Amino acid sequence: MSEVRVRFPPSPTGYLHIGGARTAIYNWLFAKKHNGKLVLRIEDTDAERSTQESIDGILDGLRWLGITWDEGPYFQTEFAADHAAAAQRLLDTGHAYKCFCAKEELDAKRDTAMDAKQDYKYDKTCRNLSAQEIEAREAAGLPFVIRFKVPEEDGAVVFEDQVYGRIERNYADIEDFVIVRSNGKPLYLLCNVVDDIRDRITHIIRGQDGLANTPRQILIYRALGAQLPIFAHMPLTLDLQKRKISKRSHGEIVAVQYYRKIGFLPWGLINFLVLLGWSSGDDREIFSQEELIAAFSLEGINRSNSIFNYKKDDPKFITDPKALNINGHYLHTMPVEEMATLTQPFLAEAGLWDAAYEGSRRDWFLNTLTLIRDRYYTLADFTTLGRAYFADDFEVEERAVEKNLAKNPLLAEWLPLLADRLAALPDYNRETVETAARTLAEELTIKPGILINGARTVVTGCLAGPGMFEVLETLGKDRVVKRLKGSSRFFA
Ligand code: GLU
Repeated sequence: MSEVRVRFPPSPTGYLHIGGARTAIYNWLFAKKHNGKLVLRIEDTDAERSTQESIDGILDGLRWLGITWDEGPYFQTEFAADHAAAAQRLLDTGHAYKCFCAKEELDAKRDTAMDAKQDYKYDKTCRNLSAQEIEAREAAGLPFVIRFKVPEEDGAVVFEDQVYGRIERNYADIEDFVIVRSNGKPLYLLCNVVDDIRDRITHIIRGQDGLANTPRQILIYRALGAQLPIFAHMPLTLDLQKRKISKRSHGEIVAVQYYRKIGFLPWGLINFLVLLGWSSGDDREIFSQEELIAAFSLEGINRSNSIFNYKKDDPKFITDPKALNINGHYLHTMPVEEMATLTQPFLAEAGLWDAAYEGSRRDWFLNTLTLIRDRYYTLADFTTLGRAYFADDFEVEERAVEKNLAKNPLLAEWLPLLADRLAALPDYNRETVETAARTLAEELTIKPGILINGARTVVTGCLAGPGMFEVLETLGKDRVVKRLKGSSRFFA
C-alpha cells in the first residue's frame, strides 16, 4: 500500500469540540500506526462563519492535547483556484452543467412537490441545453449555478465503509446537485474532495454525519478521474437523552478548553475520547500512547453511537464520570515531579502558590501532592479539595461536620486537649502524633476514631482523606495545633 495519508479538516466556526477532537485523535492514531502522515486543513471557505479566534482555539486545543500533524495547517481558501479549475474541468468533460433556473422557479416547483407530498428533486431542466442556448443565456447575463450530472442509467454508488459496511445509493435517488453557487463560490462538497485529492488522502475518517455526502463525493472523485480513498465513518456521541452533544444544548462542557480549565491531563482526555466509539475488543480502558497506537484499528470503531454520560442539571456531573476516572488514573500514577509542574498554574491561579515549593519546601510540596492525590480526579482538585494543605482559609464540608463533629459535642473540649498534647511533643511526627492521640482517647475512654475523625474534619475540612497521622505530620505542628484549638467555632 502507498503511504497512508489522513486529514483533519475542521471548519473554524467555533471552539475545538470534543467530537472534533475525537476525529483528530482517530486520524492521528491511524497515521501513527501506519507511519503515515496527518494533514491539518482548516476548511475556512464559509467566510461569514469562520473566525481567526476559532482557528487559534482549534490549533491551541490540538497542541494542548499533543496531537501533532505532519503537514499544514493548510487553509482551504488558499486553494480557490484549484476548486474553480475542478469545476471547469467537470464542465469541460460533460460531468457538470450550467443551470439557469431562477430560485423562484425552483422554489415554486419544490412547494408543488411538497404539497403533493412528493420528494423534491431538481427536474434537470437545464441538463440538456444546447451550446447556443447556454451562450445566449450567458450573453444575456443570466446568473447560473453549476450542477453535477448524476448518471442517468440504472445503477448505484456502492462503497465499502470500513465501519458501516457496504453502502449503496441509487443514482435515481441523487439529484443533480449544485457544486458552484450563482456567485461563483464552489460548495463545500466539491472543495473538500478537490483538497483531498490534491493532498493525496488515502483514508477519510470522519463523523457519521459525513456519510450523507459520501455518495455524491464519490461521484465527483470518479468524474475527476481520481482514485477513491477508503472511507470510515465514526458513530456519533449522544447524551443520556440520546441527543447529539452540541454547544447549544450542553454548553462549554463539549469544548476541549473546558477540560483543560478543570484540570484534565491531555492524555487523560485523549484516553477517554478514544473510547467514545472505539474499543480494543476487550474491556480495556487504560492505554499508554504506545499501547493505543498499537491497539488502534478502524475495525475497532463501533457502529453504535456512544453515550456521553452527563447530567446537565446535576452540579456533581462536571463531566462524564468515566472521564474523571480515567483522568484520575493518570493523576494517581504519573511521576510526581511532572504532576507538580502541571499543578503549579492551578495553585497560582487560586492564589495558593508559594515560591518556596520550588526551593526550601520542595520536598514538603512533593510529599504533600503524593499524599493527597489518591482521591483527586483533576488538577483543580488540589486547589479545592486540597486547599487546607496550602492555605488556612478553607471550607469545611457540611457532611463532615454533621458526621464527625455534631454527633459528639464533647469534641469541643477534646480537640483543644489534643492540640495541647501535640503542642507538647518534642518530636512531632506521625508515630508520636499517633501515640499521643491514642493515649488521649484511652484516657477519655472514647474510641480513637472519634478523635481522629473529628480532627480530620477541623484540620482538612474533608470527610475522607489519606491516613490521618500522615496528614497531621504533613500539615505540621503549628497549623494542626492552631486548627484544633480553633475548633470551638463548629460547636457554637
Ligand atoms: N470541515 C468538515 C467539518 O468540520 C469536515 C468534514 C470531512 O471530514 O470531510 O465537518
